[in-house]
Amino acid sequence: MMGHEDWTKLLVEVIARATARLPDDVTAAIRAGRSREAEGSLAAMALDAVLKNVELACSEGAPMCQDTGVPLFWIHHPAGISTGMLARACAEAVRRATAQNLLRENAVETLSGRNTGTGQAPGIPSVHCEEWDRPEVKIELLLKGGGCENTSAQYSLPDGKLGADRNLKGARRVVLDAVHQAQGKGCGPGILGVCLGGDRGSGYVEAKYQLMRHLDDHNPIAELDAMEARLVEESNQLGIGPMGFGGKTTVLGVKIATLGRVPASYFVSIAYLCWAARRATAIVAANGETTWPS
Ligand code: SF4
Repeated sequence: MMGHEDWTKLLVEVIARATARLPDDVTAAIRAGRSREAEGSLAAMALDAVLKNVELACSEGAPMCQDTGVPLFWIHHPAGISTGMLARACAEAVRRATAQNLLRENAVETLSGRNTGTGQAPGIPSVHCEEWDRPEVKIELLLKGGGCENTSAQYSLPDGKLGADRNLKGARRVVLDAVHQAQGKGCGPGILGVCLGGDRGSGYVEAKYQLMRHLDDHNPIAELDAMEARLVEESNQLGIGPMGFGGKTTVLGVKIATLGRVPASYFVSIAYLCWAARRATAIVAANGETTWPS
């Protein structure tokens, strides 16, 4: 039976894996984008710099960006595990990872502006625990940078200015508007997690959780799967390009989920993630054995 200290050590390892390695599907998508950009273009140079950065971080086990982001944990667990203990272990793991320079001192007291110096503060890390019927524990971590968080957007449909009604066409229109508004800010090429429905809080949480999906997976709902592919294509036709330098690689992926909503509301929440899509997953079997799916 794993206790607080075992979980803390494991969570530090999850952080170490996320901060220094870009998932293979993300690296492949950046390479594919690079191959589409014209030689000598600013877009090609920007993507070359990104790929070089990724390579260096991986070989040196160092953070790939100076902003190590907000750690977001999602933990699915069987009955009988204390979620309070897991949340405390996540907070302690963030403090230890910060002391080990795996994470930057990245947490600030909002009113005083004082850096806590530990990487941790109320609400940081963000921890979502959910009980499930399976015997294993699944830990998922996303390190989400501040620049791309600033670029996230939420729309309430209908949106008269954009001509976006409460349907998939309207949702598509506002997602494209968000990409247009970003203009490569938040360190594009970006990845978009989108939630249709929910409320202003739950919509953003689900949109962020979509960012844990592999870029090459498929949405089980056919019409959302088609919408994801179409949005990638249409976004990349906007000519914004990496960092807004122009080019064909504006987004690397779009992932969409839905939540229920009240009749009065139809939110489209768009969580924008930069190219530094640092995520890691660990599965802890009932016997304590840990595996690391890519
Ligand atoms: S948005 Fe991403 S790549 Fe840009 S500074 Fe922040 S973490 Fe780094």
